[in-house]
Amino acid sequence: MKKTGLLISFTIISITIGLAQPEKIPIAIQKNDIETHVRFLASDELRGRDTGSPELEIAARYIAEVFRSSGLKPAAGAAGFFQPVSLVSEKPPASASFFVMDEKLEIGKDLLVLSGDSVLIEAPIVYANYAQPEDLEALDVKGKIVVAKAGTPGITNPQSYFFSSKDKVAHVAAKGGLALVELYHSSQMPWSLLVRYLNTEQLVLSEAAEGKAKLPLIWVNNDKGKWLAILKDQDGENATLQIAEKERKTIPAKNVVAMVEGTSRKLKNEFVILSAHYDHVGVGSSSDSQDTIYNGARDNAVGTAALLEAARYFGKNPPKRSVLFLAVTAEEKGMLGSRWYADHPLIPLDQMVFNLNTDGAGYNDTTKVTVIGLERTTAEPSLLAASQEAGLAIIPDPEPEQNLYDRSDNASFAAKGIPAVDFAPGFTAFDQDIMKYYHQAADEAETLNFDYIERFVEAYIMAAQKVANMPNRPFWKPGDKYEREGKELYGQ
Ligand SMILES: [Zn+2]
Repeated sequence: MKKTGLLISFTIISITIGLAQPEKIPIAIQKNDIETHVRFLASDELRGRDTGSPELEIAARYIAEVFRSSGLKPAAGAAGFFQPVSLVSEKPPASASFFVMDEKLEIGKDLLVLSGDSVLIEAPIVYANYAQPEDLEALDVKGKIVVAKAGTPGITNPQSYFFSSKDKVAHVAAKGGLALVELYHSSQMPWSLLVRYLNTEQLVLSEAAEGKAKLPLIWVNNDKGKWLAILKDQDGENATLQIAEKERKTIPAKNVVAMVEGTSRKLKNEFVILSAHYDHVGVGSSSDSQDTIYNGARDNAVGTAALLEAARYFGKNPPKRSVLFLAVTAEEKGMLGSRWYADHPLIPLDQMVFNLNTDGAGYNDTTKVTVIGLERTTAEPSLLAASQEAGLAIIPDPEPEQNLYDRSDNASFAAKGIPAVDFAPGFTAFDQDIMKYYHQAADEAETLNFDYIERFVEAYIMAAQKVANMPNRPFWKPGDKYEREGKELYGQ
């Protein structure tokens, strides 16, 4: 039902905008230059641009050289075009166990360690239902191991378990608890899949690695209800929780950052951030396919090429506001490069008035661009006008239930209050045309329609130009999820 309604409204928007005749493109973008960027970045020699790989360092160097040759300057206060990003890879603890009576739970089998390392705790168990504030209120959890059901009553979505766990850990720690053991069950993600996903090496920001050691958070397999019964029964009895120290390794990573100063004396202290992630997922291990290199042409060599051509264009044609160019690393590892930049900005964040990110899963409609978050900010008319001038219709997020807005780097800036959108090649649904390439080895430069990519890049650059020249700075539309953060950031 939801989908039908959306499709109808898209059709109307597309028709309305699609009627406009493509105008002469006012800027000189060369298809061949775009193709060169994409073919280089998505080449087999760059081996899928995995974070931490030497090939991603080569990509960073390429981007920096395009910035330099386009006449861009390092961001004020930065020594060069590189911003080191402090990443750490963490292996799961080599051992972790939970002894209750004569039963023993072990890591990777019936137990997962979500946080905490290097602990040995012997303490009484206290059963706390869902460990929500009202559950903990009447309980004495001080010096005890709190056992609770994962998630919140009535919610079975594992993603929401992660969010509620964070709050619960904070509540338990505030009341003096020593650890939180949650009983996991979700029909949406079976335990075996969860183990495969979580009990493996992960990249995290170094600060998160330090912060993580605070209170141990353990998930226990409760698929058959066995452990809930046992642990409830052991309320008040002693248990032992042991977690070995995690093996950590520093991972080299960098964002590539540059700026162009605006021409307006009044507006040049305001910046539009143009961003694109330049990493991808590297080389696969599957032996069933000949090609194991995930080239990431669509995701996100195309977006990076758009950023590079924007650098060339604005290097010669600066707009009224200044522009910050940000090629970010480790998006595929959880938007780590953009999160790092947002936490360690080279220019104060309250001078950033908008983030025009470009990242996409691919396209299935070469008459359109898709802007995730289109309707959320007052830059909408500028974005519409830009696409129209490039001869492309524009549609908003076709699949809001996928939560795409919060799955790319624009979310790192939105979370700080900066109005942000993701400007993506035209896709109308996650259909076969998208999935055939999305995070597949088949996502190669040879499979791209460069006539369309050229038009897409033009639309992106014109969108950036129009936003950078808006008489009033853009902001969130009233009632947006990030409006409050925006007001805080800009002191409104
Ligand atoms: Zn991407």
